[in-house]
Amino acid sequence: MGYNFKQIEQKWQKEWEKSKIFEAEVDGGREKCYVLEMYPYPSGSGLHMGHAFNYTIGDVYARFKRMKGFNVLYPMGYDSLGLPAENAAIKVGEHPKKYTDKAIKNFIRQQKELGLSYDWSRMLYSHDPEYYKWNQFWFLKFFEKGLVYRKKAVVNWCPKCETVLANEQVHNGFCWRHGDTEIQLKPLEQWFIKTTEYADELLDKVDDLKWPERIKIMQKNWIGKSYGTEIDFEINGGKWPIFTTRPDTIYGVTFMVVSAQHPRLDELVTKEQRKEVDKFLKKIKTVSQKSMKVVEELEKEGAFTGSYAINPITGDKVPVYTGNFVVADYGSGMVMAVPAHDQRDFEFAKKYGIDIKVVINPPTFNLSADKMSRAYTAEGRLINSGEFENWDNREAIEEITKFLEKKKLGKKVVQYKLRDWLISRQRYWGTPIPMIYCDECGIVPVPYDDLPVKIPEKVEFGKGNPLATSASFINVKCPKCGRKAKRETDTMDTFFDSSWYYLRFCDNKNVKKPFDIKKVEYWMPVDQYIGGAEHACMHLIYARFFTKALRDLGFVDFDEPFTRLFNQGMLHGEDGNKMAKSRPKYVILPEEVSKKYGIDTARLFLLSLARPDKDLQWSDKGIQGSMRFVNKVMDFYSDLKNIEGKSNEKIESKLNKTIKGVGEDIEKFDYNFAIIKLRELFDSFAGGKVDKKTAESFLKLLNPFCPHITEELWSKVGGKRFVSQASWPKYDEKKIDDKFEKAEKESEGLMGDINNLIRIMKYKGNEISRVYVYVLPNEIDNYSSEELSKRSNMKVVVYAVNDKEKYDPKGKSKKAKPGKPGIYLE
Ligand SMILES: [Zn+2]
Ligand SMILES: [Zn+2]
Repeated sequence: MGYNFKQIEQKWQKEWEKSKIFEAEVDGGREKCYVLEMYPYPSGSGLHMGHAFNYTIGDVYARFKRMKGFNVLYPMGYDSLGLPAENAAIKVGEHPKKYTDKAIKNFIRQQKELGLSYDWSRMLYSHDPEYYKWNQFWFLKFFEKGLVYRKKAVVNWCPKCETVLANEQVHNGFCWRHGDTEIQLKPLEQWFIKTTEYADELLDKVDDLKWPERIKIMQKNWIGKSYGTEIDFEINGGKWPIFTTRPDTIYGVTFMVVSAQHPRLDELVTKEQRKEVDKFLKKIKTVSQKSMKVVEELEKEGAFTGSYAINPITGDKVPVYTGNFVVADYGSGMVMAVPAHDQRDFEFAKKYGIDIKVVINPPTFNLSADKMSRAYTAEGRLINSGEFENWDNREAIEEITKFLEKKKLGKKVVQYKLRDWLISRQRYWGTPIPMIYCDECGIVPVPYDDLPVKIPEKVEFGKGNPLATSASFINVKCPKCGRKAKRETDTMDTFFDSSWYYLRFCDNKNVKKPFDIKKVEYWMPVDQYIGGAEHACMHLIYARFFTKALRDLGFVDFDEPFTRLFNQGMLHGEDGNKMAKSRPKYVILPEEVSKKYGIDTARLFLLSLARPDKDLQWSDKGIQGSMRFVNKVMDFYSDLKNIEGKSNEKIESKLNKTIKGVGEDIEKFDYNFAIIKLRELFDSFAGGKVDKKTAESFLKLLNPFCPHITEELWSKVGGKRFVSQASWPKYDEKKIDDKFEKAEKESEGLMGDINNLIRIMKYKGNEISRVYVYVLPNEIDNYSSEELSKRSNMKVVVYAVNDKEKYDPKGKSKKAKPGKPGIYLE
């Protein structure tokens, strides 16, 4: 007892670093394994035990794979650009760069103290100009390929973030970072990435991924493929395509609704209606971009634009309204309204006195527009529908679409919920978008040779976008004509940085190229990715998009970046709640745990609680159990005589079974089961002696969980170099004998019975000093007097029932049954 764990940890962390054993290089002769945790945002407050838990999950896996003989790439880096760092820096009055550099240094120190086996030579951070230079490079490549465009759009603006947000960052109308801040809509010129170009492939390939099922479902829903019909309506002589899933109701269209955020709304508003429309727009300024549910509950409102649309099938002229219940972002931002058969349209028509025209009758009666109190939305037969009169409305959907296609008035289309990715941000701490505005030449990309466009250090904070007020940054010569021009002041969404960092790890020091293609071909794809489920729809979609786009640009030769994905659970504080800075009492710091128990004990404890994709709860009491185990292991190995023996057949069997089981468990992330097996194996050593090979094998198996103490003990028993480098022990199926397992179970059952009897006797006031056990002759080998005595702290004697010498004053031996010995206490 009383081991100096801190000293052991520091010693081996130093040794690992010195010997560079976790550094990996391309080796065509060996099978590779790329293990990666989502690179973290280096928060100024550092790591708490919840983070330590995340990284330990990956570390165990990486260590295991290394011992299994794989060439393991296990790097770490930092997602160091972005709003949180900028805001935190401003708050403490520090420059974001200084603040971030400090935070990263602290992170690295903490991560090293956890004993994580990263290849630190591959470290990268996204605020490094040598990194974000390649963000700009990709942006220009995408631009050349037509995957980047600039467009005036009504965008989501968070007044707290003071920047535009992507659709993915708006949750039910509120900012993803500020759950209490409603998003405002602003028409702005912004940069977009055409993620929708890959919508089909992003959807189709989801099924091939070895990812958690719920994440795959979330991806599919986010991409959201649906089929419908695009129909061209004519307004003021122009063509206005609209999207509908109900072309069967086209004969019942009595008005059109254009979204209040439609970029071309102004074209539709006549002089006479200007005032009324403006009044309406002002009123609903902050409403919209809500979840569909919110839209449903909204009071339907609108204003007549003064324009009329011509129904391409009937030739009817119908009024065009602008309304608050059509979202600009979905479909074309305009809908054909069929009040008789759509509830929203019905409410709107009633409110503004617009015609209602029935075109579908229920099977059993006829509808009358004047008497309807709500829309009829079920199936039926078409009426008032020209040549489709009397058709079943479901069949008419297909037929009317074909008819429109033949007449070139519309077509069948696929629609996605996935939108193009808005990447412009009006903030400082991000990658400057490498574009220049010239009055003569228009938009001019920054030449590749001029990259990186660096984030200027000296700027003024607190007055909007600091780049926009930095004269030295903005003013530039046009690369084309040499005249005075201005730089783009928007920076990139930091999800751009995290969309390809896993590629840069394969070749992080390359100054000529984003990476060497050969190196990426060797290491990629990531075999095991580990991270939180909260990234199901943003990071994981963007990263998949990036991989596909880079493939088509000839930079990579694979389709998907992450073969397997594991979502870790969350570690809660002792009170059962999330560890958060705002509740410091419940935040467990690795440093403190380490001081008290040693980090190996903490790792072992966290991973023994449950499968690591479950939420866990920290417990000061619980960790004591792991501490006792670690101390027992230390004690056992401290007496070298314990490992100079010969392992008996039973231990041999147990060892082989454990090697097999632990390997399978780690592969499946059933770490908690692996730990149970390891403890059982160790218990079987207790009191006896084992041979050196068994002692070494146990250390190897325990190493991924407790890397420091196993190194220490490995060197003590004379193991070669590092146990972290040793090969994973092989098991011999022939040596696994279930009879030992059976015997163990039986003697455990017997112990239970003995303890019960002792309790009863003691309760009755009897002192017990001896226990006699009577077993059937063929079972005598299953029970050892010595072991039972040790486990019950009492003298236990085992007899076969046919033993003539047995002591059996009460004839209890007659009660013995197969697997159920007789017991006598004295
Ligand atoms: Zn916000
Ligand atoms: Zn120019």
